[in-house]
Amino acid sequence: DTPSDDSPCSKPKTTFDDVAGLEEVKEELFEIVDFLKSPDKYKKMGAKIPKGVLFYGPPGTGKTLLASAVAGESNSSFFNVTGSEFVEKYVGVGAKRVRTLFEKARKEAPSIIFIDEIDAIGAKRHLESNNEKDQTLNQLLVEMDGFNKDSNVIIIGATNRLDLLDEALLRPGRFDRHIRIGSPNYHTRYEILKVHTNNKPLDKSVDLQLLAKKTHGFNGAYLSNIANEAAIFAVRNNSNVITSEHFDKALERVIAGLESKNSVLI
Ligand code: ATP
Repeated sequence: DTPSDDSPCSKPKTTFDDVAGLEEVKEELFEIVDFLKSPDKYKKMGAKIPKGVLFYGPPGTGKTLLASAVAGESNSSFFNVTGSEFVEKYVGVGAKRVRTLFEKARKEAPSIIFIDEIDAIGAKRHLESNNEKDQTLNQLLVEMDGFNKDSNVIIIGATNRLDLLDEALLRPGRFDRHIRIGSPNYHTRYEILKVHTNNKPLDKSVDLQLLAKKTHGFNGAYLSNIANEAAIFAVRNNSNVITSEHFDKALERVIAGLESKNSVLI
């Protein structure tokens, strides 16, 4: 078992322009980007930059995308992992993976470690239990506390359920910044649709504002899916451009997919 070799590290090219809307969130994250780019400026001033940031809110709203944009904007290494990857049957394996991940991130610094579904390892611990999960969480806490001020590693955790997390994770010096990423409103849906169609040839019949109105309750993941399905319909119809009809069909297909999955729109 050599988890060190498979920790997914990349240098994303994502920028804040790829993330539609969420202006206030981006503003808050800009501070972190600036720190990763010029840490000395902050150190000279004696300022402490957060080690951990938590994104919380419903799925498909751009949490992973934002974390990757923080890495892209700051030219940092991006370690993208999921909490459940650390949940193992044998005691000590998850903890070892956490240790290896942080070692690698320090080596490749500046780094962003993004832990999606952090509740899989960070859920509230039970008194007197010392199971595999607790050891993994303890190791995460140890790594976060052990950062020296020069490590230039920032951890971004994401969860749909902030209330499930162990309080130890939320203490100052750990994940002490919490940023809510909510479902997109009409304006944001319109912006998301623009981002996902700006590389596509659109016919004049396409009215993205109307589409944004019709997609109340859709998250960014569904909207990007609609734009992609519309392009596929256009190709299939041998059309040079994507028309409003293609978008209508794409919308129908995505809604049908949702209904068959029995998903509830948020
Ligand atoms: P989960 O909780 O399911 O991991 P998430 O919040 O991390 O979801 P992402 O994986 O970042 O969501 O989003 C899925 C896709 O939806 C993105 O790759 C992107 O294509 C699109 N998307 C979501 N939000 C936005 C946004 N604000 N701007 C542009 N695209 C978006």
